[in-house]
Amino acid sequence: MSGMQQTVRVRTRERLEVIDLTPQVSEVVKASAVEEGLCTVFVRHATAAIVINENADRGFRLDLVNALAKLFPEGVWEHDRIDDNGAAHLKAAVLGPSEMIPVRGARLLLGTWQGIALVECDGPREREVIVDVRG
Ligand code: ZN
Repeated sequence: MSGMQQTVRVRTRERLEVIDLTPQVSEVVKASAVEEGLCTVFVRHATAAIVINENADRGFRLDLVNALAKLFPEGVWEHDRIDDNGAAHLKAAVLGPSEMIPVRGARLLLGTWQGIALVECDGPREREVIVDVRG
C-alpha cells in the first residue's frame, strides 16, 4: 500500500462560508503519485463540514449558506445553554465531516462540475483538514 497524508490549514473569514479546497487536495493527490486508490478529506472540527458539489457557480455557495441558515435558526437549541452554537453543530452534523473521492493516475476522479469544499459553520476560525491518499 502506498500513499500520503497531509494537513491543510484553512483560515476562514466569515461566520458561515463555503471555501473551495479542490486545488489544495489535488496537489496532495498529485504529490502522492497514487495510480489507483482513494482520497479521504476530513475536517477535524465539530462545527465545520466537507462537501462535494457544484464548484463553478459562486451563486451556489451562497445558496448553500442561505439554505443552512434557514434550516437551522440560531438560539433555540439545547446546546446553546452551554456553548451558544447549537445551530453550527447541526449544520456540520447534517453535512458531515468527510468525503471520499476515487483516484486514478494521481488525479481526483471528480465530475466536471464537482469540487471539494470546506463549509465553515462557526467562523471565523483556523481549520485543520486531513487529506489522506491511499493506493
Ligand atoms: Zn458547541
